[in-house]
Amino acid sequence: KQRVLSGIQPTSASFHLGNYLGALQYWVTLQDDYDALYFIPDMHAITVSQDPKELRKRTRIAAAQLLALGIDPARSTLFVQSQVPEHAELAWVLSCITGFGEASRMTQFKDKSVKQGADNTTVGLFTYPVLMAADILLYRPHQVPVGEDQRQHLELTRNLAQRFNTRFKKTFVVPEPHIVKGTAKIYDLQDPTAKMSKSASSDAGLINLLDDPKVSAKKVRSAVTDTEREIRYDVENKPGISNLLVILSALTETPVVTLEKDYAGRGYGDLKADVADALVGFATPLRAKVEEYMADQGELDRILGIGAERAREIAGNTLAQVYDRVGFLAR
Ligand code: ATP
Ligand code: MG
Repeated sequence: KQRVLSGIQPTSASFHLGNYLGALQYWVTLQDDYDALYFIPDMHAITVSQDPKELRKRTRIAAAQLLALGIDPARSTLFVQSQVPEHAELAWVLSCITGFGEASRMTQFKDKSVKQGADNTTVGLFTYPVLMAADILLYRPHQVPVGEDQRQHLELTRNLAQRFNTRFKKTFVVPEPHIVKGTAKIYDLQDPTAKMSKSASSDAGLINLLDDPKVSAKKVRSAVTDTEREIRYDVENKPGISNLLVILSALTETPVVTLEKDYAGRGYGDLKADVADALVGFATPLRAKVEEYMADQGELDRILGIGAERAREIAGNTLAQVYDRVGFLAR
């Protein structure tokens, strides 16, 4: 089996519908065909200031949600980044073969540092892509599912892998981006031309998986649409309706064209009611499962402990090779 690796940050109290339909849903299906590693990058999270208690809680909630969504710790390796010290150790070595100019060209850092101002910008945020390269290269995955915003970072990862391989000896697999076909992109319910996002969406435009389903249903019923009456998929002219169709399609596993036929001659209220129902039907049992995992912290931590141990077997191996090749004494 080929190996895939992916991570999601523990920086919110709940994942949102975009995270699920655009990424996590596919993580679940990838488990069938790949040797999958999934991790919660808490070390990346602290590149911006985090409340310690909150971070710990969010890390556990992130894990609980992944388990509740169907990540199976018996088939996949689910772990928390900071519990695998090899990530930090490899990041240091990689930072020593990364050009300062090369790192300075990362556009995400430029964007974020401009937004936050120099005083709130940390060296950690600057070296974030190097840590990300370490996250990936430790496990020698063939493919890494990445969104558009991480493409440049993956390119750096590939360059660092090739550079290390050439300068020392072939050590790393140069990973390919894994583009999952047909991943849904979900838009803000109040501004359906903008991506649904935890940091940019207004509360009314954002559907959190762990919110009270009644609240989410209400947000769907208040979603911005248009002044026509026809239910059809047309992103240009009808972004709100198109977004609702995509959401319903994904939640009910019904093609959008089938939905268009089903809703011919019916009103927007019907569509919204059905999206709301589908969402409540999905979120209600999910919430219950997450609560169950959160109620037994010992068990949750045990699952993560096993994941970290499995991850360390692979990561430790790679790191030992790296240390040897750069000329460190054996431990
Ligand atoms: P931020 O606003 O902090 O960037 P976010 O809401 O964009 O947060 P991320 O943590 O950046 O969420 O993304 C986690 C995963 O969810 C990524 O794989 C990303 O591509 C996916 N994702 C995020 N938002 C959406 C969306 N609206 N539609 C589809 N996929 C999404
Ligand atoms: Mg994002």
